Amino acid sequence: MLIDGHGRTVNYLRVSVTERCNFRCQYCMPEKPFSWVPQENLLSFEDLFKFIKLAIDEGVTKIRLTGGEPLLRQDLDRFVAMIHDYKPDIDLALTTNGYLLPETAERLANAGLKRINISLDSLKPAVSAQIAQKNVLGKVLEGIEKARAVGLEIKINMVPLKGINDGEILDLLEYARERGIRIRFIEYMENSHAGEIQGLLGKEILEEIKKRYTIRKLGRSGASPSFNYEIEENGYIFGLIDPHKHDFCESCNRIRLTAEGHLIPCLYFDEAQSIAEAVRGGDIDAAAEILAQVLRDKPKENRWSETDNEGSNRAFYETGG
Ligand code: SAM
Ligand code: SF4
Repeated sequence: MLIDGHGRTVNYLRVSVTERCNFRCQYCMPEKPFSWVPQENLLSFEDLFKFIKLAIDEGVTKIRLTGGEPLLRQDLDRFVAMIHDYKPDIDLALTTNGYLLPETAERLANAGLKRINISLDSLKPAVSAQIAQKNVLGKVLEGIEKARAVGLEIKINMVPLKGINDGEILDLLEYARERGIRIRFIEYMENSHAGEIQGLLGKEILEEIKKRYTIRKLGRSGASPSFNYEIEENGYIFGLIDPHKHDFCESCNRIRLTAEGHLIPCLYFDEAQSIAEAVRGGDIDAAAEILAQVLRDKPKENRWSETDNEGSNRAFYETGG
């Protein structure tokens, strides 16, 4: 079992398979970075898998593939199959912007993927294009339908932004509800890579939903960062991810691995250690020692706050959000 320096059990590994992306979301990567990580610095699926095996053997039970846009990585279904075949009962999921799902969803499902989170910030073509800086809505909606058709369990993520898509919170909630999909509203997390935008706080998102419905607090399911609410009128359950809340980090159960092998203890902070040399050289003991050190050093909490917020220097497209 993996326990961090604050006594929290860590059983969740998020793996960013590429920092590259085919969108330029204003809250994440509004401009193409000055330079991408050179291709030769990326760990191969085989090297990433050496670490994943170690993590599973040490107690990780949940793995999420993310990015950047993970579907840009060639043959991602091969990687899914490697993980699935090693431990078929692992909770293996993917977070994607959905754009490439029409052509990849079936192969991913066949490889053993069960669950998928798709980012959907607007149902209006012009607003989607304003946020992603590309005309994306048609393909994302098609991707959602394809993922449903091949039996993937779907969640939708929306980041409400002031003056941009904040008038669509109820529309997106209804879109998800009508399809039996859970939606999670994510507070915009201030970071130095984002554009000049402002997000809605959790309480403002809830106020918007209360204009139509009565809602009841349920709580977090396990160590999930999402706090669940139920709509009394129809029993629909939605989630709110509110890292600005002071108790958000108490049940944090995750660490992150980037495509070039940085092991990151917390989304907010810059600290990371590299396992690249260890896995490339096949030195699993060295990788295990780095893992133990990262767990010892995992910060107690982030520094996003409702009142006093400097934001983070971390790029979400590198860490996978
Ligand atoms: N490209 C994929 C996607 O967009 O779903 C996966 C990577 S993306 C970094 C993972 C999640 O982080 C997405 O749901 C996205 O909306 C969210 N995200 C990115 N930047 C964010 C920010 N500044 N604040 C809150 N959520 C953010
Ligand atoms: Fe790309 Fe996802 Fe970041 Fe948007 S949120 S720029 S889709 S990595």
